[in-house]
Amino acid sequence: MDWLTHLIWNDLIWHNGKLFGIDWGFWKAVGWLGNAIFSSRFLVQWYVTEKKKRVVVPQAFWWLSLVGSLTFLCYSIHQQDSVFIFAYAFTWLPYTRNLMIHRQHKNAHVACPACGKSCPPQSNFCPNCGARLVAVTA
Ligand SMILES: [Zn+2]
Repeated sequence: MDWLTHLIWNDLIWHNGKLFGIDWGFWKAVGWLGNAIFSSRFLVQWYVTEKKKRVVVPQAFWWLSLVGSLTFLCYSIHQQDSVFIFAYAFTWLPYTRNLMIHRQHKNAHVACPACGKSCPPQSNFCPNCGARLVAVTA
């Protein structure tokens, strides 16, 4: 097992006297932070989908997408890499729009008159207690 410890520690974690063999500096840390934030959105989405047993894209997914891509954009501008600057220059648009739609949908929920639970906008009956919801007339 000594060889395994050596492999994990000397070849992976502390490679060539550096953490993960990476030349760490401020901007390298910014780039890896962007990686961590942007990648974590998939774990969050997967977790919520497994928990609810249906495909769900939670609001946190769009926040992680927005913050992660803006962090990547800062890094790519610093690196002066036109490919990555273009890749992250406009992604904030759909992320921001999805967050706006999430908020509009949440605000359109109606409170059940019987139990007070917040119900989706198009519901006729409360999913919690079954009470008829007040019809919203246009
Ligand atoms: Zn109810």
